[in-house]
Amino acid sequence: MVKGVKMIFAHDTEVALASAAALVNTGRGGKEQLPDLAALDQFVAAWGWTGGRARDQAELDAVRRLRPRLERLWEMDVDAAAGLVNTLLREANALPQLVKHDNWDYHLHATPPDAPLADRMAVEAAMAFTDVIRSGQLDRLRRCAAAHCDDVHIDLSKNRSRRFCSVSCANRTNVAAYRTRRAGAAAHN
Ligand SMILES: [Zn+2]
Ligand SMILES: [Zn+2]
Repeated sequence: MVKGVKMIFAHDTEVALASAAALVNTGRGGKEQLPDLAALDQFVAAWGWTGGRARDQAELDAVRRLRPRLERLWEMDVDAAAGLVNTLLREANALPQLVKHDNWDYHLHATPPDAPLADRMAVEAAMAFTDVIRSGQLDRLRRCAAAHCDDVHIDLSKNRSRRFCSVSCANRTNVAAYRTRRAGAAAHN
């Protein structure tokens, strides 16, 4: 965590929200980004998932099946989103517990470490969304404003100004706008 930067949510919630958006994005943009177990291993490592793994096709299928369900949160009104979050928590028998592990200080887990990966992903996302919904922040869920990018993100900026999923999408859009302005200026000469 960067000192002096005001967080909108608790750190573990913000990581869980970014991780949920990243998971949803692996199924967007017309290209399967979790084609096999190796890709899932990479995703799990990149987002710091600990706990037990089955490392089989059923695990991969379950994670892939979770994506469209989480994706719907970006389309839903608050009542529907609350209903889905409750369903996800109920299905995995979520039971919130404060835990410490690896380099993490106390944070919430609501599934045991040996629960199936897809259940742990579902519950971690659902727990984070309970924060988003009960603080009235569901409108922070966005789609990237860049052309040719279909990714979703969660705007965690203080002034709710984030339009792009990534720095590269922001830069690409700014460069395109600059070129358009220059082309326009040249045409008037
Ligand atoms: Zn943890
Ligand atoms: Zn983007």
